Amino acid sequence: MTEATAAPMYVCPMHTSVRQAGPGQCPSCGMDLVPEGTRFALLRHMVSSPLHLAAMAAVMAVLMAGAMIMMR
Ligand SMILES: [Zn+2]
Repeated sequence: MTEATAAPMYVCPMHTSVRQAGPGQCPSCGMDLVPEGTRFALLRHMVSSPLHLAAMAAVMAVLMAGAMIMMR
């Protein structure tokens, strides 16, 4: 076993096709890459926390309001 196989692959949370052997930024969106496997842990964390759910709901409400204003 080498160090390379022990190190996790890093992926972009938004782009599943973006992955590399070390930390860095996504070339598509500039987000920090996260170690593979933490992406879903992060999602689960978001869903499990009422505070984060409330934050997501607030963002959705703002987006909906924005869409309604655009449609007028
Ligand atoms: Zn990206």
